[in-house]
Amino acid sequence: ACNELGQIWMESGVSENAVSGHIQLIIPGESACFACAPPLVVAANIDEKTLKREGVCAASLPTTMGVVAGGGVQNVLKYLLNFGTVSYYLGYNAMQDFFPTMSMKPNPQCSDQNCRKQQENYKKREAARPKQEVIEQEEEIVHEDNDWGIELVSETSEEELKAASGPVPELPEGITVAYTIPNKEENLIPEETVADSEESLEELMAKMRNM
Ligand SMILES: [Zn+2]
Repeated sequence: ACNELGQIWMESGVSENAVSGHIQLIIPGESACFACAPPLVVAANIDEKTLKREGVCAASLPTTMGVVAGGGVQNVLKYLLNFGTVSYYLGYNAMQDFFPTMSMKPNPQCSDQNCRKQQENYKKREAARPKQEVIEQEEEIVHEDNDWGIELVSETSEEELKAASGPVPELPEGITVAYTIPNKEENLIPEETVADSEESLEELMAKMRNM
């Protein structure tokens, strides 16, 4: 029906074993519809046959539903409010905490004739759209000459910065530490202590008064 009307459609689902799900954005003509390819499912490394029994309804986990529903609504918000990257397909595997993403082109030999019609319309729309030229903006140079040899120099040296930030663990791509803990032993400031004088408290107080 969405193919007939050209209605953009956000679809989501949770598997029968309730440990995987997906969110899919279907733009008729632009991305694959259900007839183009069977719905994608995320491999959960569980044999579904072991879970399904005659007369027993499919498993359901509110947490999986929550994650998938939240992801779906998030994607709708991104689409409607125009921020971030809208996923065409986002899978969720609860067993491995794995979120695969991908996008699928529609099948030109789709069994749905409306889908094929939408694909033609999409191609026409794309062809009619003027190509956006990438204008390279040259960076403006503020000062052509530097008669006085003025430069910007960092106040802290590289070593000082390293010592202050402490060890940074090796992290996979896309993850950084919010802050680091400085090495305690290296940065200990020697505590200044007053040499022990043999004077009593009263004597010291008297000394203070005379100051
Ligand atoms: Zn299709």
